[in-house]
Amino acid sequence: LATLGVMGGGQLGRMFVHAAQALGFQTAVLDPDPTSPAGRVSDYHIATAYDDEQGLAQLMQRCEAITTEFENVPASALSTLAAQRRVAPGPQAVAVAQDRLAEKAHFAVCATTTGVGPAPHAAIASEADVAAAPEALLPGILKTARLGYDGKGQVRVDNRAALAAAWVQLGRVPCVLEQRLALRDELSVIVARGADGSMVHFPVQRNLHRGGILAVTEVYPDHIPAALAEQAIAATRAIATELHYVGVLCVEFFVVDDGSRDGALVVNEMAPRPHNSGHHTIDAFDVSQFELQVRALAGLPLVTPRQHSAAVMLNLLGDLWWRNGQPVTPNWAGVLALPGTHLHLYGKHEARPGRKMGHVTITAATAAAARERALAAATLLGIAPWP
Ligand code: ATP
Ligand code: MG
Ligand code: MG
Repeated sequence: LATLGVMGGGQLGRMFVHAAQALGFQTAVLDPDPTSPAGRVSDYHIATAYDDEQGLAQLMQRCEAITTEFENVPASALSTLAAQRRVAPGPQAVAVAQDRLAEKAHFAVCATTTGVGPAPHAAIASEADVAAAPEALLPGILKTARLGYDGKGQVRVDNRAALAAAWVQLGRVPCVLEQRLALRDELSVIVARGADGSMVHFPVQRNLHRGGILAVTEVYPDHIPAALAEQAIAATRAIATELHYVGVLCVEFFVVDDGSRDGALVVNEMAPRPHNSGHHTIDAFDVSQFELQVRALAGLPLVTPRQHSAAVMLNLLGDLWWRNGQPVTPNWAGVLALPGTHLHLYGKHEARPGRKMGHVTITAATAAAARERALAAATLLGIAPWP
């Protein structure tokens, strides 16, 4: 029995473990939290810090190949592992995804062939940078270059005084100031690429964010204008290829008005791993993003995913476990009574507001039916309806 390892024990690691075990692999998870969602379902759980030498040695001893489930694994830890084991994605690719400036520089290079570039932006690493930031970037969003997720490490700024205050508020760390764009839509594309350069992709996902956190993903056949979808897929493939990427990669896009009927694409950021906007692939496709992560890591064939159902994914944040300051149990029985609902709970004990506790995917034969049931599920759970 071969063993596959994963750095990180969150819900993405847990779904990776499930997919790996289904294919007959053993798994090892390295996560400092002894009760982590992935560690609890894995064959082996190494509960040390990510850069602990003994922990890394144990992981290498157990595993033939190792992947990562969050982008903030210390790059040095991945390099240590990569010196002795197959690591996918590789440390260089993860290092680019860890740093918004490096990431945007990579997007800008790819834009010369794909035509899809990042939002106008500037590096902010000093008071002089604050003073010199182009006026055209305001109003903007100041984002820490590293370690942000779910909208954390971001401040909206309307003018230069606010920018100066935001940079202090974020701890005077290296940041990126991005122009705040009027978003018409948000999309994402997930690809899986093998060590041999073979690559497959999922269809374009449409994402709704609330408070900087993904709330709803909808994937219906042909729901995105074909030319826009093709361009997003081509841009994602180019971003992966130019990085010599191996594994599952998700790229997030904005759609902005440019006077054309469909609007124009701007590339936002990438995640060097399966993505929250791809969770519906477990239930609506004949191969999931997690199975493709396993296949890419193990050097098994990648196949083009086929969508067999229209799908809506609702994120279940910790807020749903509270009403008027009192703990409540969401109406699971009501949701499960709706045909085509697939409930996934991650086994996290503490339901903090904004924390990703689980998701529910609603599948149906048609987009209209999936939407209608998803809205019904949302009502039962206390999730606000969406346009
Ligand atoms: P994730 O959890 O996806 O990694 P993150 O914390 O890295 O999130 P971003 O993806 O940079 O954050 O931004 C979160 C959301 O904030 C975006 O999906 C979008 O809704 C909004 N947003 C970010 N940048 C911009 C921008 N330049 N203009 C307008 N809205 C933006
Ligand atoms: Mg991000
Ligand atoms: Mg994002």
